[in-house]
Amino acid sequence: MRKKVIAGNWKMNMDLHQSQKLVSEILNGLGRDNKAEIIVCPPFTSLSEVNSLIKSTKIKLGAQNMYYEESGAYTAEISADMLMSVGCEYVILGHSERRVIFDESDDQINKKMKAALAKGLKPIFCVGELLEQRESGETMKVISAQIEKGLEGVTSEQMKNIIIAYEPVWAIGTGKTATPEQAQEVHSFIRELVAKKFLVSVSENLIIQYGGSVKPENAGELLSQKDIDGALVGGACLKADLFLGIIASA
Ligand code: PEP
Repeated sequence: MRKKVIAGNWKMNMDLHQSQKLVSEILNGLGRDNKAEIIVCPPFTSLSEVNSLIKSTKIKLGAQNMYYEESGAYTAEISADMLMSVGCEYVILGHSERRVIFDESDDQINKKMKAALAKGLKPIFCVGELLEQRESGETMKVISAQIEKGLEGVTSEQMKNIIIAYEPVWAIGTGKTATPEQAQEVHSFIRELVAKKFLVSVSENLIIQYGGSVKPENAGELLSQKDIDGALVGGACLKADLFLGIIASA
């Protein structure tokens, strides 16, 4: 049985005080008996402070991006070591906003993937098709290319530390959610791909999250699908009651 993993991507929201308030509200509202693993991914500027608030709780810390070099003249970039020094266990890589707005290529994502894994940071690796790609029947081709390229050179052993997040780009921040059937179809395709590329046991243990306008109202049905093991949440993770509602459905 795979555990459910619910992660909140705060994106470029929440200054330091708002971050402290949000994480405190989440902590206060968490039931003792919830079974899901919970990850919060605040902006870089709040990581350290959020880490002190969640230390010794069941909430884990993630960052939203990193650079693949170890150190040096890379103005404004953040390394894996830096993230780990402020308590990060996870890092989101390949988010569609990084791919589309900041032109991040599969090759750069792959370099980040290998650098994160080499340091012991666990990637939440995002893949997903654009609306026009879905409409022209290219979804599986796009997903398969993103996975092949993003995971090039990654070993079966390292796959134990990777979460894949399927995030159809047309569903991110739009209020449009993939139907549970649409999401399940792609999740099962991803699991088969991973089984072929690595081992069946790797694919059986792989956590595959769905992301794209997840809310408390649709989380239960999405999370009840066979191959949906959690959610990567954007908008709804900025309100404690909504994020807690999603956690409660897991
Ligand atoms: C995301 O950006 O990862 C995301 C899923 O956003 P939203 O939940 O707002 O669609």
